[in-house]
Amino acid sequence: MKILVTGGAGFIGSAVVRYIINNTNYSVVNLDKLTYAGNLESLNSVAESERYAFEQVDICDAVAVNRVLEEHQPTVIMHLAAESHVDRSIDGPGEFMQTNIIGTYTLLEQARLYWSKLGEDVKSHFRFHHISTDEVYGDLPHPDEHDGDLPLFHEQTPYAPSSPYSASKASSDHLVRAWARTYGLPAIITNCSNNYGPYHFPEKLIPLVILNALAGKPLPIYGKGNQIRDWLYVEDHAEALVTVATQGVAGETYNIGGYNEKQNIEVVQTICAILDEIKPKETMYRDQITFVEDRPGHDMRYAIDANKIKKELGWEPKETFESGLRKTILWYLENEQWWKNVLSGDYKLERLGKAEQE
Ligand code: NAD
Repeated sequence: MKILVTGGAGFIGSAVVRYIINNTNYSVVNLDKLTYAGNLESLNSVAESERYAFEQVDICDAVAVNRVLEEHQPTVIMHLAAESHVDRSIDGPGEFMQTNIIGTYTLLEQARLYWSKLGEDVKSHFRFHHISTDEVYGDLPHPDEHDGDLPLFHEQTPYAPSSPYSASKASSDHLVRAWARTYGLPAIITNCSNNYGPYHFPEKLIPLVILNALAGKPLPIYGKGNQIRDWLYVEDHAEALVTVATQGVAGETYNIGGYNEKQNIEVVQTICAILDEIKPKETMYRDQITFVEDRPGHDMRYAIDANKIKKELGWEPKETFESGLRKTILWYLENEQWWKNVLSGDYKLERLGKAEQE
């Protein structure tokens, strides 16, 4: 089986590519534009595999996407390429509309044309797997303001996105459902909670806090820090995604979560406590915590009901929040070169080397 992964040089995409190469006998084509978030150094451990190929392509470029499909003949497309950072979407939404909506439309249309020409035997196995977020559902009641049972997001929760990022992802989910319903494209959607783990770009909360803590810098927390997110270790997510892409039922949606609802302040305090234990210094890391003005439109709580994927496909996360966070912190301590190259911008040199060879 050959799987085309879009956004395979990003945080989750690279975990998916590493998972496929290390745990299956499938081949992977990584189609990635290499924006600031794409980092080929995250794929150093698998780049030499004969089952791995890389194509530097923009998903908005229909001709290039068509060429990649015809040349590599994948039977599964896992679509992760996106602009993914909420704060950036607030500062400049244009790129998010372009990649997340127009890019997904372009990829869907090329996938549909490619799929329609496949032989009947391959056609029935073909899957277009769209990877999305739980942020499309908006936010849930917060325990500080709600008595009684707290609801969770499930696959039928109505869409109510709050940020330009989540609105663009919601749009892309709607496009995928429309292509499945109208054209019969065998598509699957997964909506997942917040990921964390190795190779995470240090603009996101957990890597930012780890690296700022190590550098003695302030640890910024939005508002009161009581926003609740459900956290999933990225390698657990990668395993869930490959399970869905290869065993999921076409036309279905699966929610993926970590059963780890945490307030942001708890997340930061837990990182500080682990660092106090494994990398002690004269002062406590928590003394670096500073509260900053809240993000506009900030959702207060996300939480996932991940029972469907457990019941139907047998997947559940292996890591607890504490075990995954400890692994993540150790990874950042042991892989200084990776994040130093990101902070200095040197990670972009890898792509220049690659481009020169082509
Ligand atoms: P990321 O920002 O780390 O990586 C995105 C990748 O897409 C990068 O390699 C980038 O170069 C590539 N890309 C961007 N625009 C492109 C374009 N026009 N053409 C081709 N490639 C392009 O993102 P991530 O955190 O790995 O997220 C991957 C997917 O998972 C996204 O669709 C995101 O919405 C979804 N998701 C993320 C989370 C999370 O916690 N990070 C949670 C749920 C769902």
